[in-house]
Amino acid sequence: MTTAYETLLERTREVHLLESTAEILSWDQETMMPAGGVEHRAKQMALLAQLSHERASSDELGDLLATSADEAAGDDAIANVRELQRDYERRTRVPAALVAEMAETTSRAQHAWAEARAASDFAAFQPWLDKVLHLSRQRAECLGVPEGGELWDALAEDFEPGMRAASLERLFTPLREKLSTLVREIGSATPPSNRFNELTLPIEQQEAFVRSVAGSMGFDFERGRLDRSTHPFCGGSHYGDVRITTRFHDDNLGDALGSTMHEAGHGLYEQGLSADHLGTPLGSSVSLGIHESQSRLWENHVGRSAAFWRWARPQLASTFGAAVADFDEPELFRTANLVRPSLIRVEADEATYNLHVVVRFELERALIRGDLTTADLPAAWNEAYVDCLGVEVPDDRRGCLQDVHWSCGLVGYFPTYTLGTLYSAQFYAAAERAIPDLDGHIERGEFEPLRGWLLANVHCHGRRFSPDALCARATGSGLDADVFLSYLESKLRPVYGI
Ligand code: ZN
Repeated sequence: MTTAYETLLERTREVHLLESTAEILSWDQETMMPAGGVEHRAKQMALLAQLSHERASSDELGDLLATSADEAAGDDAIANVRELQRDYERRTRVPAALVAEMAETTSRAQHAWAEARAASDFAAFQPWLDKVLHLSRQRAECLGVPEGGELWDALAEDFEPGMRAASLERLFTPLREKLSTLVREIGSATPPSNRFNELTLPIEQQEAFVRSVAGSMGFDFERGRLDRSTHPFCGGSHYGDVRITTRFHDDNLGDALGSTMHEAGHGLYEQGLSADHLGTPLGSSVSLGIHESQSRLWENHVGRSAAFWRWARPQLASTFGAAVADFDEPELFRTANLVRPSLIRVEADEATYNLHVVVRFELERALIRGDLTTADLPAAWNEAYVDCLGVEVPDDRRGCLQDVHWSCGLVGYFPTYTLGTLYSAQFYAAAERAIPDLDGHIERGEFEPLRGWLLANVHCHGRRFSPDALCARATGSGLDADVFLSYLESKLRPVYGI
């Protein structure tokens, strides 16, 4: 006889089939689809979203969950039921009318945002931001504020289970201060040359190079693809079909390489998820912060290390020949670690990136709390940029209008970028302790020990542990910003001679 738990998993896997179909359509939309496909694709996506929502919030699923919770035996079943219960409750707590209103508002708000950004006209976007924030607060009320928490926490649970604004404040306040101080010190030193990233290199060769780096990292091209898109991302349907993208400029190999290593890091996580648990929580990634830790680990801890450039230097020479002949390993390493405070988050370097994120978290929290009005947002943004990064914001296009997130209703999302950074430093330090001579392996292009460690300590667990617990199990301690800070200081101080 089929148990309730088995039927529950069957239904859950059906929802995953629908969702992963939408993922492939969405990949296609970003990479291959001609402009003429837009309208029909929107209808396809809307129908798939409706079908998966109906199934994932059905009464039948609720009944199966209730019975399974009583029957569940064994660690796997207990973990799957716990996570499915959590998803089901969050999905069914928000009334359908509010879900629909949010979907329609954010779809229109995104258009308004794109136009406002192009015109650098915050006033045109402000009423839409007000609407999105209003609906987000309503949604947070429905979802329920965690005990001792605030409205923002209820929204952030979508992206990082267990993340709380109050604990982020404790983590981010000293981080902001220490990073600002480091960045100011770096600003008064002589920067390394950037001439490597100003070289014009044929895009076909760039593509061959980044493709071979992704392959060396262990990204499996039999179970994945690398294509081009305006904004690099990682998508796909499941561990056997992972789609990553990158982008190329004639004169910025560093950007293509960093983007590729970043997305391939996400891709390795997806390819490393458990095949046995496909379509269930134990076969899914646990949070955006942990996902981002996997991308940043490869992009920064590997891709900006001296050992990596000792390996990559001859690879570059065999791909690009004479064009790269007069760049030695120390110069390539220093260029990869160039720090330049700037206005745009997505173009930021390793040291300044998290300052962009902390600013967004502080402002967003104040907006949700009602401590800051949208009318005052541009001024507050610009002030924070002077304070944190020492840069003057010339217009809202390069200021508070630069990110798409708020127009999509993604409130509570930004901090996961920095959590990813902090987790990545802790995971890398733990891997260094566990793998003798990790640097030597990297210098020889042997990335398998590192990938294997990540597979065994992060990827294979799916959602079995909370992000915090996963970090503690893998590294021996909970979230700790000091590991990142000391890694960054010990790398950058010698580069800048400070
Ligand atoms: Zn990422």
